[in-house]
This record gives sequence, structure tokens and C-alpha cells, in this order.
Amino acid sequence: MKHNPFSQSGQFFKGNLHTHSNVSDGKLSPEEVCRRYQENGYDFICLSDHFLPVYDFPVSDTRAFRTSNFTTILGAEVHLPSTLIGEKWHILANGLPLDFEPPKQNERAPDLARRCADAGAFVTIVHPEWYAIGVEDVLSIESAHAIEVYNHTSALRAARGNGWGLLDQLLSRGHHLNALATDDAHFQIDDAFGGWVMVKSQDRDPDALLAALKSGSYYSTQGPEIHDIRFEADEVIVDCSPAYGVYLLGKGSRAVQSEVRGQTTARLDASRMGKGGVMRVTVVDDKGRAAWSNPMWRPE
Ligand SMILES: [Zn+2]
Ligand SMILES: [Zn+2]
Repeated sequence: MKHNPFSQSGQFFKGNLHTHSNVSDGKLSPEEVCRRYQENGYDFICLSDHFLPVYDFPVSDTRAFRTSNFTTILGAEVHLPSTLIGEKWHILANGLPLDFEPPKQNERAPDLARRCADAGAFVTIVHPEWYAIGVEDVLSIESAHAIEVYNHTSALRAARGNGWGLLDQLLSRGHHLNALATDDAHFQIDDAFGGWVMVKSQDRDPDALLAALKSGSYYSTQGPEIHDIRFEADEVIVDCSPAYGVYLLGKGSRAVQSEVRGQTTARLDASRMGKGGVMRVTVVDDKGRAAWSNPMWRPE
């Protein structure tokens, strides 16, 4: 959280950056996918169909489904062999041109990810728990902005929806990557609307939303809302929707808790996070659903 979204002007827009239509292996048409998110209160989505030869390398064109209160970012989920254990890479690229070129002969995944970033995309390594992505895998994708810390479909279909174990290892080793929650819905089962982002932006323009995402000006959630995160003296103060637990988490095992049922403000002592130490906020409600800030760093 180099750019604290809570100290910036603008408003929060609700969006999902990872979902599929029948352009690839989803059930519904692009129009129906857009309609369902809009109907469920989303301000924007990115329809990220699989950029594979079997689907003729689609960057799904959703521009026709933009309205006065709903917009779309163009993008795709791109694939190449292979991770360290031999799985095909799944890399989310939010913000691609419609004519983005298919992988070249012998192109490697890190080079494809770089090409996505150079084309303007916000690049995320997705469903790391399901695909057993390791630290060395992540470090090979130097252009990645974020790691999926929650993928709702992976939670439902493989009971492996988490990504914080991986991202915390990277943060603890001094790497700067942000977090992302998505639902990765295919609509074959009831897998939509379980994880999303709240992006702080001046307006709902796709380019403004993309710039905010790349700067880290957002938080991720399964339901709880974070209204403010601010520093006072050496405390982190969190305002949120009614929570069961509010946590300040740092390098390794460092954790400070405020566990008061129904709390909407928590004061967390940051002194245990170390000088310049990484720290992040998690808010958990009484149903066990979480909201997560991006990482921030305690002042030196
Ligand atoms: Zn995938
Ligand atoms: Zn996907």
C-alpha cells in the first residue's frame, strides 16, 4: 500500500477482475456475465477468458455492455508452460488491447507476463494454492503486481482458495507485491460474488481504475468493509463494518489482535512490526469472512 487508498481523494468502486464466459470455458455469454455483476451491485468487472489456442486467443470485447454506472476493463487469463512442478501458468492480465498478440514460438511465461505489463496490464499470479505455486515461481514473474490471496472458485472446487501463505513469505523476505481477491466465476456452479476488490478512484473510467490498481489503491474482501486505515503516533487505527477480529500482521509470526465482537474501530500497536517493517490489516466478521488491506510499511 505505497498509496494508501484511505488517505486519497475519490470514492470506492466495487469490481471483480477474474471471471469467465462462454468465449472460453464459462457457461454464460459475455453480455449475461456483465448483467449479473451489474445486477449484484458491481461497478466494474474484467471478463478474463482463457487466452488459449483452443478458444482462438480471445481478449473478450465487453465495451458494448458498459453503462452509465457499470464499466469493464478488457483483459484475459494467459497461459504458458510451466511452473516449477510442471503445471501450466495461469496469469491474470487486466488491461490488454483487443489485438494482444498470442504467445510467440518458444516464448516463456515471464516474457509473456512482461509483454502483458508493457501493454498496460495489471498482472496477477492467480490461484497459487490450487496450483502449488512456490516462492521461486513468483520471483520468476518479475512483472507481477499482485498475488491472488483469495479465489472463490478455487475454494469451492478444490478447497484451496487461499494465497496469503505464499504472499506472506514474499513480503517477509522483503518483496513488494499486492494482494487480490476474485471469484474466478465460470457460472457452471454457484461460484460468483465470493471475492472482489474495492478500488479508490476519482471516477469509474477503466483507465483510472487500472491506474489505481497498479498503484495499490484498493483493498480485497469477501464481504467486510474497511472504511479507513490511518496512523496515529505508533498505532494503526482501523474503521470497518462490524467485525469479530481486526488484525495487524507483520513479518513472520508478528501479529497484533483486537478481538471484540461487533467492533467498528480497532487500535493496533504497530511497535512490534519493526522499523520499516511490512504490515497489513485483516478484518474478519462473525461469519468468518475477511477483508484484507494491501501491505504497507511502518515508518522508519
Ligand atoms: Zn486459472
Ligand atoms: Zn480463471
